[in-house]
Amino acid sequence: MILVVGGAGYIGSHTNKELNRRGYQTLIYDNLVYGHKESVKWGKLEVGDLAEEEHLERIFQENSIDAVLHFAAYAYVGESVAKPAKYYKNNVCNTIQLLDIMRKYQVNHIIFSSTCATYGVPDKMPITEDMPQKPVNPYGATKWMVERILEDYRKAYGINYCCLRYFNAAGADPEGELGESHMPETHLIPLILDAASGKRESISIFGTDYPTKDGTCIRDYIHVSDLADAHIRALEYLKQGGESTCFNLGNGNGDSVRHVIEVVKQVTGKEFKVKEEKRRAGDPPVLIGSAEKAEKVLGWKPKYAEIETIVEHAWKWHENKEY
Ligand code: UDP
Repeated sequence: MILVVGGAGYIGSHTNKELNRRGYQTLIYDNLVYGHKESVKWGKLEVGDLAEEEHLERIFQENSIDAVLHFAAYAYVGESVAKPAKYYKNNVCNTIQLLDIMRKYQVNHIIFSSTCATYGVPDKMPITEDMPQKPVNPYGATKWMVERILEDYRKAYGINYCCLRYFNAAGADPEGELGESHMPETHLIPLILDAASGKRESISIFGTDYPTKDGTCIRDYIHVSDLADAHIRALEYLKQGGESTCFNLGNGNGDSVRHVIEVVKQVTGKEFKVKEEKRRAGDPPVLIGSAEKAEKVLGWKPKYAEIETIVEHAWKWHENKEY
């Protein structure tokens, strides 16, 4: 049994689908604060919070858990600046609690959701895993701290881990069964789709004076189903005795905010208002990840690398959204 903590969330639910498709049995532990019970269409759902130590321990007592995939975290950068306590308590302290329960029940494999936000504002592109990690906000710091803790737990207690540093997760299940639905929504692609479908009056570009070709920020958008695939590869790599390590998960190419807006217009055939606004605090101008290591070690190659495909899948979900 694979324990998918945070499996009702965006990336967790897509990974849960893929695990089940490949014959794994899953148990999803999620507090449903940001996750959706409707997205747990496979495996068994146990509603609970990471802070509930006894509840979590009971899960390990009652089930034969082989490995943990840990997606559960707060992930709003702005909120992490305003409410760091919430982020350090949940993302760090509760993860330590999970790791200690894993130790107690001798569950030695964990795949951890990390982020390119651990790199802060890198001075070279594309970003490789060996570049300095200097997070510039509490959210990134919580993920970086857990990476450090995992390495210490490996050395001392033999917990094996893979940290997966996602770039900009985007898109939706190509079969239309799952998609992205955050409350509140802050991510670029779903917000543009809201403008395209008339749910929002307009889309704002945060900053048009960046040192990039068209003045807007560049990000590496990676399809959520490609992320799901990478998790299963990482799990199988650990099970085969692979060394604990970290991987960047991106496409290795970047798209500007303006370009993504143009692609949404093309894919949806809709026109909508675009406003140019000031920069959003803490946004690095360019983030592009090199995924060479994931390709070499895990044999991972994104299947849906084109931004047009990512937007098409996201739009298909957006038009028929169930939640
Ligand atoms: N962005 C924007 N308008 C929005 C939301 C986001 O211009 O309404 C920009 C944001 O400044 C960043 C990019 O889109 O450069 C991606 O932002 P998102 O919040 O989706 O992901 P992040 O890169 O912050 O993880």
